[in-house]
Amino acid sequence: MSRISYINGLYKKHYEASVHLEDRGNQFADGVYEVIPVRFSKLIDCNLHLERLFKNINSLKIDFNLSNKTLKFIFERLIYLNKIKDGIIYLQVSRGVAKRDHAFPDFSIPTIFVTSRNQKLDKKLLQNGVKVVTTKDLRWAKCDIKTISLLPNVLAKQEAYENNAYEALLVDDESFINEGSSSNFWIVKDNIIYTGPITNKVLPGITRKVLKEIINIEKMKFKEERFKLEDAYEASEAMLTNSSNVIIPVVKINNKKIGSGIPGNIVNKLYNLIEKNIFNQINM
Ligand code: PMP
Repeated sequence: MSRISYINGLYKKHYEASVHLEDRGNQFADGVYEVIPVRFSKLIDCNLHLERLFKNINSLKIDFNLSNKTLKFIFERLIYLNKIKDGIIYLQVSRGVAKRDHAFPDFSIPTIFVTSRNQKLDKKLLQNGVKVVTTKDLRWAKCDIKTISLLPNVLAKQEAYENNAYEALLVDDESFINEGSSSNFWIVKDNIIYTGPITNKVLPGITRKVLKEIINIEKMKFKEERFKLEDAYEASEAMLTNSSNVIIPVVKINNKKIGSGIPGNIVNKLYNLIEKNIFNQINM
């Protein structure tokens, strides 16, 4: 059975679904996207993802008017059609098709497509932790918008892979760590959990937001503060968060071991708490 994807009102065979040559998403990366996790065939934190999606659509002034209800219907239909159990929904909205010209066209209909795939959490990453490397943050000044313009992130991730690392941490000129190429970054130091505040250099991750609420409820020690690479080297624990992988412990940054070099208690505790939160949603 072939995979089905949604494009502009139609459910099509995945390999037959395509966008126009002059889609502004193709030519200018003039669009936004979301990745929504699916666990046990249920959407996780869907409302938070849609809230961020519409915020981003408004930031780019894209005239898009599908409702939350319609979008959820599409997601659930793909989960059903493609038998998605544990995996992700990917949604992309661009300004649409128009004669190539940098300025917004007078009229265009936004292009929307949604794909889905099964993708189990990799428990080995959680058990063993990962190595990350640092690289210069070459992105633009609006990293808080989740746009499809991801070339610096792509190059950073490739650099990580070429150095046998799982992720690249994006570091600014003053040595502050902004985030990972596709994740938010956290450290634990003196039993205090740190992650940087949301600035124009940090994507407001949904996993980050949910975890912050959990940390608050659990009354764990937490500071939303920028930190430098030197601080990360001295951390007892570190981790990455994103919707596809939830939490991944970091046990090595460049060639420096973090803490004892294995995933620590606080990161493990956070993982168990956020998984409990996910299971509560599944059983709702
Ligand atoms: N930062 C960047 C640059 C990302 O690409 C992602 C993943 N989309 C995140 C952070 C984490 O966001 P989320 O928890 O919403 O997946």
